Amino acid sequence: MRYATRFAPSPTGPLHLGHAFSALTAARRAEAHGGTFLLRIEDGDISRCRPEWEALIYADLRWLGLSWPEPVLHVTAREAIYASALSRLDELGLIYPCSCTRRDVMNALSAPQEGAPMGPDGVIYPGTCRVRSMATFVEGEAIRLNMAKAVAYLGDVSKFSWEETGPFETGTQRLDAARLVEGVGDIVLARKDIGTAAYHLSVVLDDAAQGITEAVRGVDLMEATQIHRLLQALLDLPEIAYHHHDLIRDENDKRLAKRTDAKAIRKFREEGYSPEDVRKMIGL
Ligand code: GLU
Repeated sequence: MRYATRFAPSPTGPLHLGHAFSALTAARRAEAHGGTFLLRIEDGDISRCRPEWEALIYADLRWLGLSWPEPVLHVTAREAIYASALSRLDELGLIYPCSCTRRDVMNALSAPQEGAPMGPDGVIYPGTCRVRSMATFVEGEAIRLNMAKAVAYLGDVSKFSWEETGPFETGTQRLDAARLVEGVGDIVLARKDIGTAAYHLSVVLDDAAQGITEAVRGVDLMEATQIHRLLQALLDLPEIAYHHHDLIRDENDKRLAKRTDAKAIRKFREEGYSPEDVRKMIGL
C-alpha cells in the first residue's frame, strides 16, 4: 500500500508554529516514504470555523513550501457518510441519544469534589442516558457510543492493534478492554451544538476515504488513538499507523493555542521572516 498521510487543521484561527511543525513533519514523512501528503479541512464545528481562516491555512502552507493534491477534503461535505456510519452503529445497538449538559454530567458524578475521572475527552461520562435507545432520539441531542457494548461486540479487543512510531512510544499498540470501558467511557459521536459528526467519528471515516496509511499529529491526540482504532474495527475500516510528534511550546513551556496570535505563521510572514527561518525556529 502506498504511503499517504495528511495534515487536518480546523479553520478556527490562524495556524501557529505548532501547526507548521505538524504539517512539515507529515510532508517530510510522506516524502521519505515516497508517498503523498494530503490536506483535509476539519470544518465540522460550523460555529467556530470561518472561510477567512481556511484561506489563511492555504496561504500559510503554500508559503512554507507545501503542496497537496486537489480537491481538498472538507468535513462539511461528508454528512451523509457520517450519518450512514451512525446508522450502522445503531443497527448494532451500540449508540444512544444523550441530552446531558456539562452541568448534568458534573452533577451526576458521585464525588465530583474529589476530582472527576478524566479520559481523552475530559470527564468520563457517568452514563445517565445509557438506558435510552435511539428510538427516543430527539433532534438536536448528542449521540454516544456505549463503550461496554462496543467492546463486548468486538470480543477479544486485543486483536486490534496499530503501529506507533512517535518519540513517546514505538511499536505495536493494542486495544485494552478495561482501559476503554473505564478510562475512556461513552464518548460523543455526534454533537447537538454543531449538528454533525464529532471529531472521533469523522476522523476515522475521513482517514479511510483519503487512503491514509499513517496519521501524523500531535502527542495530545495519542490517548485518542485507541478510540480511533476501536471505531475502525466497529466500522470495518482499514487499520492505519500513527506518528504522534511532540508539541511546540512557548517560552513558558505552554502549548501554543490558536488564540495566542503571537506565534502565528502569518505574523512571521508579515514581519519578513523566511520559511527557512520558521523551519529553524521549530528545529526542522
Ligand atoms: N483537526 C485536528 C486538530 O487540529 C487534527 C486531528 C488529527 O490530526 O487527527 O487538532
